[in-house]
Amino acid sequence: MARAVTMRRISERVSGIAESATLAVDARAKMMRAAGRPVIGFGAGEPDFPTPGYIVDAAARACRDPRTHKYTPAGGLPELRAAIARKVRRDSGQQIEPAQVIVTNGGKQAVHQAFATLLDPGDEVLLPAPYWTTYPEAVKLAGGVPVTVMTDEAAGHLVTTEQLEAARTPRTRVLLMCSPSNPTGAVCSRAQLEEIGRWALDHDLMVVADEIYEHLVYGNAEFHSLPVAVPELAERTVVLNGVSKTFAMTGWRVGWMSGPRDVIKAATDLQSHTTSNVCNVAQAAALAAVSGDLSAVHRMRQVFDRRRRTIVRLLNEIPGVHCPEPQGAFYVYPSVKGLLGRRPASSLELADLILDEAEVAVVPGEAFGTPGYLRLSYALADEDLVEGVNRIAKLVSGRL
Ligand code: PLP
Repeated sequence: MARAVTMRRISERVSGIAESATLAVDARAKMMRAAGRPVIGFGAGEPDFPTPGYIVDAAARACRDPRTHKYTPAGGLPELRAAIARKVRRDSGQQIEPAQVIVTNGGKQAVHQAFATLLDPGDEVLLPAPYWTTYPEAVKLAGGVPVTVMTDEAAGHLVTTEQLEAARTPRTRVLLMCSPSNPTGAVCSRAQLEEIGRWALDHDLMVVADEIYEHLVYGNAEFHSLPVAVPELAERTVVLNGVSKTFAMTGWRVGWMSGPRDVIKAATDLQSHTTSNVCNVAQAAALAAVSGDLSAVHRMRQVFDRRRRTIVRLLNEIPGVHCPEPQGAFYVYPSVKGLLGRRPASSLELADLILDEAEVAVVPGEAFGTPGYLRLSYALADEDLVEGVNRIAKLVSGRL
């Protein structure tokens, strides 16, 4: 008789995390496309542009140089760390040195590494919701406890110090801030950042500031870096950033953490045992990106801005959908509460229905801690964007 298998095979730590909802939606859309279905994808947070030519050329040259065929120091190529420090001084106005930078495998590894470096078991992390889907899982993997802080749609989904204070406990150690935000595109003003930063300082918290969308702000909105808005906070703030979104380099996998020297040193020790260094050729590409000017991103931003206005207008024409105009990143986060009833009963079900019947991929608000919304990335071709929203409108008028 076969013996019952009682052995635990997957650790509680890993079995406790959820698959990335955004990557899952994107993978499903790609599978349907491979099977011949004309799926339009609003799922992935990925610019549709190719990486600018001068960056690709730098990588091609690096490929042919045998020096690039070797490991780099775990923290990154010294010239890249120096160039990132210069770029931070240029773009954010924060005075940092190369020793305050570690190069990571994309912004996502920077997120994981920040929490792994800062948290002890049971430490609580305040996550304003809607939050990017990876944050709670990264906190849990690091032994921490994610604490969702609900924001108000009427206040543009921007967290207030009152909401943060209501969620604070003696175990609170870290505050996560993401501005411009994924998924809402909300951008904190300097005054809001100052108030939140002072509150974090008063309560002796560490802060992780995800600034990966720093260059994607529209209209009158301005990006401000948290440790610049509140300089006293610099000694307790880890900033996350990378080339993925700014330079259309999602596939190259280069990001970084910058912050206090002791945190960066500890993160580098950790990375020396996990991934060692980021691909040397990709670092050469990132060096060209951060050393060059910002004209390529300015051009992409103009295109995103046009699409932003188009998608907001089209979505608001659908009865039951309410889409505020976001000020940053390349996402809209419309409320679809007006479309929910017996079926679909949730934004999760609605997203499935839209994919199955309209062949359009969107991410449900459940993935960001706030059911009742959908996230659509507008980093796709204008014609696809119009066609995709029209398909949703048709589905809604015919079925719901
Ligand atoms: N941070 C935020 C807020 C993001 O939206 C993303 C990607 O979607 C990342 C970090 C990670 O970017 P990557 O790992 O592609 O560099």
